[in-house]
This record gives sequence, structure tokens and C-alpha cells, in this order.
Amino acid sequence: THFGFTDVDEVEKEKKVHEVFANVAKKYDLMNDAMSMGVHRLWKDYYVGGLQIPREAKILDMAGGTGDIAFRMHRRAPTAHITVGDINQNMLDVGKERASNENVNLSHLNFVCANAEHLPFSDDFFDLFTMSFGIRNCTHVDKVLAEAFRVLKPGGQIAILEFSAINESLKPLYDAYSFNIIPVMGQILANDRDSYQYLVESIRKFPNQQEFANMFMKEGFSSVSYENLTFGICSIHRGKKM
Ligand code: SAM
Repeated sequence: THFGFTDVDEVEKEKKVHEVFANVAKKYDLMNDAMSMGVHRLWKDYYVGGLQIPREAKILDMAGGTGDIAFRMHRRAPTAHITVGDINQNMLDVGKERASNENVNLSHLNFVCANAEHLPFSDDFFDLFTMSFGIRNCTHVDKVLAEAFRVLKPGGQIAILEFSAINESLKPLYDAYSFNIIPVMGQILANDRDSYQYLVESIRKFPNQQEFANMFMKEGFSSVSYENLTFGICSIHRGKKM
């Protein structure tokens, strides 16, 4: 795999990821605010603000979790049909609950429990594929990109927001914060140090900006580009299926 894991480790990773998000689902939104000091909201606003959303677009937001991206897209493009996919039903349940509290037209939103590596959708179906802070948790990143390519229509776009490689000069500070402070916050706020330790480590193992862009091209995407946010703490990768 891209992480150099053996098969046993792959099974372990899938189990671990499942456990992590089942554990954190209820505290997920609070923890995002705490760990990023609220900045994840700005990253998500910027990400969704930059999407090209055709009228009546069919959108798949994979690893959509508790709906942060889907709700933003719905507010921007109320006529779009948005499918929120996630492997974890607990996260989707929190999303559904939020949807009924927010001002969301539920006929334009549906929730599907699915693995991003094997999508239960037909070829050439969606206009837009989004995924925010999810692909890093998948065992086979290449399979996710191949599936995204398959389900997009020709002309369809992909945009992925993910943690990335921070600017070298800021790395010591960032490492100190994430290795020392985040697991402690996890312990205090969610009574779950291990899950947050895992999240920090998974960020370090993920391909950097250029490596990730190369993977897009390898799966057949054209017009591949990326943009760094906050010194590369995260990046947005974009591409198009011709
Ligand atoms: N997109 C949301 C956001 O930006 O707030 C949620 C991101 S959350 C950090 C990661 C999500 O990825 C979790 O909800 C988890 O269940 C989901 N996930 C992990 N592996 C997955 C897979 N193989 N297929 C689909 N979803 C997956």
C-alpha cells in the first residue's frame, strides 16, 4: 500500500478507524473546534466557497461524517442533490440529527453508509465528488480515487480537502502542538487519548502535496492542481474527469 503496511496492518487500520470514529462521533464537532481552535470552519468555508456547483448538480460528499461539508454545499446550492456517504453509521446518525435541526431541505440530502473504496453507485453518475478530512483514514487511497473517477460523469470534478505537509520552518512548532497537546485535549474533552493520538499520527503518514497530486494523475484525472491552506497544514487537491 502507499503506507507500506502489510495485509494484517490493513485489517488493523480499518478496525482502528472504525473504532476511532464510533468513539468520537458524539464529540466530533466539539473536538474539531477545540483542536483547530475553530479554524477548521474557515478551511471548510473556503473549500466549499471554491467549488463549482452546476445547477441541479448531483454531488457525492464521501466520508461526509456529521455533514459539515454537505450543509455548507446545500446553503450555497439549494437545488443540488447531495449524497453524504460514510463508512460509519454513528457519524451519519449525528449528521441526520443535525440536518433536522438546521434549516436543511431534506429532500435534497440523503445519507448512505458506504466504503469509499467500493462505492455502491453506478458509473458516470455524479457531477462533483468531495471529501474532507476523510481520505487519510482510508486504507487504499488509490482505490478511493479510482472509485471517485468511476462514479463521476465525464466533465465531473473532484475536490479533496485533507491535512498535508506543513511548511518545514513551522514543523517543529506544529509537531510540538499536535503530539503533546492534541492527545491531552482528547483525554480531557472526550476521555479518549488513543483516538486522538491515532489522528495525529495518520496526518504524518499521509502523502505530501505533490505525491498526492501524482496519485490523482495516475488514476486518470486531468487539470490536477493543489492549493495550500494555512502554510500547508491542509491542502485542497482538485481534478477533472475528461
Ligand atoms: N467530512 C467530515 C468533516 O470534514 O468534518 C468528516 C471527516 S472525519 C475526520 C473522517 C470520516 O471518514 C469519518 O466520519 C469516518 O467514518 C470516515 N471514513 C473513514 N474511512 C472511510 C472509508 N473507507 N469510507 C468512507 N468513510 C470513511
